[in-house]
Amino acid sequence: MAVGSLPVHAPQRFQALPFPQTRRDYTFSCFIGSSSVVSLWKHHSMAVCSQAKRGWPKVDEVASSSDLNFEAPLRIVEYPDPLLRARNKRIDRFDENLKKLVDEMFDIMYKTDGIGLSAPQVGINVQLMVFNPVGERGGGEEIVLVNPRVSKYAKKMVLFNEGCLSFPGIYADVERPQSVKIDARDIGGARYTVNLSGLPARIFQHEYDHLQGVLFFDRMTEEVLDSIRGQLKALEKKYEDKTGRPSPERVEARKGKRVASGFGKP
Ligand SMILES: [Zn+2]
Repeated sequence: MAVGSLPVHAPQRFQALPFPQTRRDYTFSCFIGSSSVVSLWKHHSMAVCSQAKRGWPKVDEVASSSDLNFEAPLRIVEYPDPLLRARNKRIDRFDENLKKLVDEMFDIMYKTDGIGLSAPQVGINVQLMVFNPVGERGGGEEIVLVNPRVSKYAKKMVLFNEGCLSFPGIYADVERPQSVKIDARDIGGARYTVNLSGLPARIFQHEYDHLQGVLFFDRMTEEVLDSIRGQLKALEKKYEDKTGRPSPERVEARKGKRVASGFGKP
């Protein structure tokens, strides 16, 4: 089953309890029948573009109402559109417009067979993500995270074959912590804390990266990156042909470069 932002190639069983509406600890149980999911790899430095490297200010800027303007239906922004690397502002208005945006994000996520979607992927540069590990309307839990922050990462690293709606048809292995502890706000603005593991943790971390301007290939090993380099270059060419502008980034330029990680880690 190709499920868009994060594809699942193997049969899986997912158990999710109702998502909390108030601040309290919470745990999802997720059982995934894929050997790639449980492969345990030693953590090593990977090529990661850090937020600091891009010179973003440390203090979060608050989104204005014009930052949250959108037109339905939403469209998926594809690599190498600079919107995917832009800074995403914090949300402090929990109004009808935000609810409509979330509805539209779920809509396009289901239409494109996704299981997770971040706001910058629809051209809205704010700290917002939605996901549903089941990937079907009416099935599983619809999860909305506003202004999420990770307070804890598991030491155990797992490998998973990821895809991304902004990189149509491209799948490759990415290593990430097996579980995370998150502080966020819900759609009504209430704060809550949640522990995620398994597939929900995987989806969250992929989308959380989007909110920091980090893309999944930033976290791939050089060897894995080599396997999709041609496809990334094809997307860069597609962008140039469509916009008439040079690609704002080139995967070729990072060949052989190994940048110390650390971003997305405590
Ligand atoms: Zn993605």
